[in-house]
Amino acid sequence: MSENWNKRTQAVHGGIRRSQYNEVSEAIFLTQGFVYDNAEQAEARFLECGPDEFIYARYGNPTVSMFEQRIAALEGGEDAFATASGMAAVNGALTSMLKAGDHIVSAKALFGSCLYIVENILTRFGVDVTFVDGTDLEQWKAALRPETKAVFFESMSNPTLEVIDIASVAELAHAVGAIVVVDNVFSTPVFSRAIEQGADVVVYSATKHIDGQGRALGGVIIGTKDFIRGTVEPYLKHTGGALSPFNAWIMLKGLETMALRVNAQAESAQKIAEALEGHPALERTLYPGLKTHAQNALVQSQLGGKGGTVLSLDIKGGKDAAFAFLNAMTIPVISNNLGDAKSIATHPATTTHQRLSDAQKDELGITPGLIRFSVGLEDAGDLLSDIQQALEVSQK
Ligand SMILES: *Cc1c(COP(=O)(O)O)cnc(C)c1O
Repeated sequence: MSENWNKRTQAVHGGIRRSQYNEVSEAIFLTQGFVYDNAEQAEARFLECGPDEFIYARYGNPTVSMFEQRIAALEGGEDAFATASGMAAVNGALTSMLKAGDHIVSAKALFGSCLYIVENILTRFGVDVTFVDGTDLEQWKAALRPETKAVFFESMSNPTLEVIDIASVAELAHAVGAIVVVDNVFSTPVFSRAIEQGADVVVYSATKHIDGQGRALGGVIIGTKDFIRGTVEPYLKHTGGALSPFNAWIMLKGLETMALRVNAQAESAQKIAEALEGHPALERTLYPGLKTHAQNALVQSQLGGKGGTVLSLDIKGGKDAAFAFLNAMTIPVISNNLGDAKSIATHPATTTHQRLSDAQKDELGITPGLIRFSVGLEDAGDLLSDIQQALEVSQK
């Protein structure tokens, strides 16, 4: 039965819904609306819309629904709601359940836009936020209160690649009845077992490894049927964060090859990190798969030892050296996506995390020399040679 399929099988066949033509590949239902046989049927559908029935593409669409069911099955969740971007998913997961006066606890090492939602938007609407160092369980314990509604963190942080113990944080959060929301992008759906480990809600930017080829924006929220249909859907269907059917189709095709791509990328990332560790041009080589990484034991238990597809390199000589390094590389592109087939190098301090104060950057380890490197599908040896020659240039 399909519930017993492993991830690789779910990624290819999960959620398939065929039209009267019995097409092999998923159909793109590029329609905003759906026709009713008669007025009575329209009335009935607005009263209660079944899982195989549709009203309007902002509420749901057959292609989008295939993507939702496939990723939910893959992740071991009951249901999912797909969104126009990863940020629409983060915002939808949090805003749909919170109200003025609620308290949440959040890790402070967050992607810039995630931090903006938690620090600027939620607080503007009267949500009380406590920030903690996500790797320190004592801080989580101290911050949680009987009235804490939710906790939020990136299971692997961007760009310093700290790994947070999902099972332990979930145990503490559940003891006060808080909902555990995990932004799981860097852990990837391939290596994650977040729901099994205690996450209640898992959020992905599908723009990253799910598409994996830099084509489209998308996002998804995975959780219980109650949470997705009872809390998330009413919020998102009325506020308009729906995923386009065309982009849902891209994500469906992306899921089919995701395990092959992500495993190959992680294998290259491991090789490159091991080869670069201790390089004289580097202050630090950050990669969760390295034995020297502060949370490597947790990477073994939580992610089956897989360190993911991104590594961060702290280059000696600060911003000038980091820029010289970026400009000297010939294979990776300078951009800010990740999980792409093409290797991508980013300077977080001046781009994705530019908005943070110097004090915040310091606290999070986002130094002037730090480069985030998303390992693509190129030959690992070619990438390593290119990085090594660019490191030499950076020190001139
Ligand atoms: C990219 C990213 C997001 C936002 O996703 P978009 O699809 O760009 O909106 C959220 N969280 C993390 C950890 C990300 O890397």
